[in-house]
Amino acid sequence: MSSLRFKVVEEAFDRKAVQVKIPKERPEEYYGELVFNRKKMYQYLPKDTYNALVYAIDNKEPLSRALADSVADGMRRWAIDNGARHYTHWFHPLTDGTAEKHDAFIEHDGKGGVVEEFSGKLLVQQEPDASSFPNGGIRNTFEARGYSAWDISSPAFILDKTLCIPTIFISYTGESLDYKTPLLRSLNAVDKAGTAVARLFDPKVKHVISYLGWEQEYFLVDEALYSARPDLVLTGRTLMGHESAKNQQLEDHYFGAIPSRVEAFMLDLEIECHRLGIPARTRHNEVAPNQFELAPIFEETNLANDHNLLLMSLMSEVARRHNFRVLLHEKPFAGVNGSGKHNNWSLGTDTGVLLFAPGKTPKDNLQFITFVVNVMAAVHRHNALIKASISSATNAHRLGANEAPPAIISIFTGTKLAQILESLENSTDADLRDLAVKEGVSLGMSQIPEIMIDNTDRNRTSPFAFTGNRFEFRAVGSTANCASAMLALNAAVADQLNDFHAKVEKRMKAGESLEQAILEEVRTLIKQSKAIHFDGNGYSEEWKQEAAKRGLDCETSVPKIFDAYLRPESVEMFKRTGVLSQVELQARNEVKWEMYTKKIQIEARVLGDLALNHVIPVATRYQSFLVDNLVKMKSLFGDEKMQKLSHADLTTIEHISEHMSIIKDEVEKMVNARKEANAITDERSKAIAYHDTVLPHMEVIRYHIDKLELMVDNEMWPIPKYRELLFIR
Ligand code: ADP
Ligand code: MG
Repeated sequence: MSSLRFKVVEEAFDRKAVQVKIPKERPEEYYGELVFNRKKMYQYLPKDTYNALVYAIDNKEPLSRALADSVADGMRRWAIDNGARHYTHWFHPLTDGTAEKHDAFIEHDGKGGVVEEFSGKLLVQQEPDASSFPNGGIRNTFEARGYSAWDISSPAFILDKTLCIPTIFISYTGESLDYKTPLLRSLNAVDKAGTAVARLFDPKVKHVISYLGWEQEYFLVDEALYSARPDLVLTGRTLMGHESAKNQQLEDHYFGAIPSRVEAFMLDLEIECHRLGIPARTRHNEVAPNQFELAPIFEETNLANDHNLLLMSLMSEVARRHNFRVLLHEKPFAGVNGSGKHNNWSLGTDTGVLLFAPGKTPKDNLQFITFVVNVMAAVHRHNALIKASISSATNAHRLGANEAPPAIISIFTGTKLAQILESLENSTDADLRDLAVKEGVSLGMSQIPEIMIDNTDRNRTSPFAFTGNRFEFRAVGSTANCASAMLALNAAVADQLNDFHAKVEKRMKAGESLEQAILEEVRTLIKQSKAIHFDGNGYSEEWKQEAAKRGLDCETSVPKIFDAYLRPESVEMFKRTGVLSQVELQARNEVKWEMYTKKIQIEARVLGDLALNHVIPVATRYQSFLVDNLVKMKSLFGDEKMQKLSHADLTTIEHISEHMSIIKDEVEKMVNARKEANAITDERSKAIAYHDTVLPHMEVIRYHIDKLELMVDNEMWPIPKYRELLFIR
């Protein structure tokens, strides 16, 4: 009898509905109270320091040592006033999540006691000796020097009574060992390139800013049930479990009423977010049972990404207060939707123009078209790389499955934009010359009519969709660090914009007018990048074939998808934009392959253990119970009568035997495949071996375990079933 499963199910199902208590204070009273924002800077820093710091932040300039000392002192006083006793450099290593190492503010006072101090040196730079973080061979452990350095564009905050200072993490020799460093470089690149192009339209533009509004999907599971599933605890997803008879087919969860326990969690989480200056705004149920989403108001990309990382750790913490565990894995349950993290991305100018939003005047619209078309060209040229930027062992379960974006990158434009692109493409040189002549008067060109983009023109099957004033990159995984996708996208677009700008200038030098030059280039790009445009059903078989014909990258093996980072066109692009060097790219790929291998390795081990120690013993017990019963029936009824009576039981016994022997066999094969793969030293080949030779066994094992789940006595089944995990009471 499986007492543990019944105990935890009872515990989970016994939880009472809760009263959701809205706090008396309004959000504006506590919003940002744990952030060292400009208001706090003004309050805690001497006036000169405040002015110099704000200037440095706004102009992306370094801090002098004297200034850093003064900032550190004010920051420490603010932190201590708010209950903090420790500080940490908070950074984003190449693993998932964030890293921190806490130090108390104390220093010897020279009299046998201590004083609380914090110097500019400690604020600005640290050597966390984080030698165990993956670095792809850039640092040998014997000279394990990695430095963390304050990113002044991202404000410090207090989390768990600790002052957290957002930092970049780089090696002794200056190579990035994190996500933030190349992200910041890509934001600089797109700022420079975007500004040059935006200035063709408005010379007042000084900066172009990249914006990110992520939508975070996640699952909640009752913590009692979670703790009884070793696969959830160790891998974040269920490695076995038969589909629940009811899951998402009635579509009754999406946007449905939120259970009170969940609502209480969400409210608590939102308050924590707001205190930390994360502008959480939207919350709703998602498609799968127990699946939810949280989205903030969009922000500048670097800050938005910090906030997303912070949110993911907040979520886990707040969930525990409510007897939940949050599952950020892309595919915690088979048979129901997985979780993504839609990255709504746009570019805007410091003059307040959103560059992917149609404007009011023809000139605005030409600018809009210019930027949109350059994005399409960049995504087309680097579609394999863009896909690599969102690929991981965990996201692989989602991409290509019949629910999420396919494993092919394409852009959805919607009918209106598609019409505009088409009419531009088909315009003749004469049209364009004509336009140039009519400049100023009727740039109300037939090619660019007044543009009204209807935001409801949606296509959920597209991985990269134009949605009115931004692009929504939907293929990003729910556990991912958004920086991976954002740095590839911003770098590719920056490179493309540079190219565009150079070509326009060249044309103008040859005597073409600005409008003519731009239109010619836009037209060329529309023609060149046509293959990336697809408004049809991304899940269909036909699209896979069509995409291959169009030359889009259709690779589905994640370790091979990573190769895109090292293709000459990627290496050159990252080099030209100064975002990542070849050494960095090589090292980061080593890390990606290693992480891939480790994830599958852990899952394979857990599944093997579950199969041999949980499932087989229980199935054997049930089988011997059936056999026992048969023997007793035989002695009761005699051989002849038994011929008729025992048919069903015999078949069950036979089937259980078959499933069990396949499982045992497959586990053995899987272990051997692992052993062979482990002997490979090259990280890429090892990851490929895990993908090609270990993964397939896992699928077979799961299939047979799930069959057994339906046969074995419900009371004996050792771990919570899908129908118990997926429906919060
Ligand atoms: P959906 O209809 O996809 O749920 P929402 O309107 O709720 O979209 O917005 C989703 C996210 O997109 C939010 O985080 C929102 O702030 C963000 N967003 C809206 N406009 C932009 C933009 N121009 N740039 C970046 N993100 C944006
Ligand atoms: Mg969305």
